[in-house]
Amino acid sequence: MLKCNEIANLASDYLDKNLSWKEYFSVKMHLFMCGHCKRFVQHLLSTIRVVQGMERQLATTGETENIVACLPDKNQT
Ligand SMILES: [Zn+2]
Repeated sequence: MLKCNEIANLASDYLDKNLSWKEYFSVKMHLFMCGHCKRFVQHLLSTIRVVQGMERQLATTGETENIVACLPDKNQT
């Protein structure tokens, strides 16, 4: 049986149905037996649905420049 930390790593692919049938079945069995991971996957699904429903806005050139100016200089690290 998969461990809880493995479910955390597979949850996104599980929801996207990007798993083999064996992995999908293993995750499904774990979720049937583990309430914590079942809640985790339900929260992940809720988050995905909320984000998908959000209105997307493009940043203006000025906003993008302000954000880039706040980033650390990669040449100094
Ligand atoms: Zn679990």
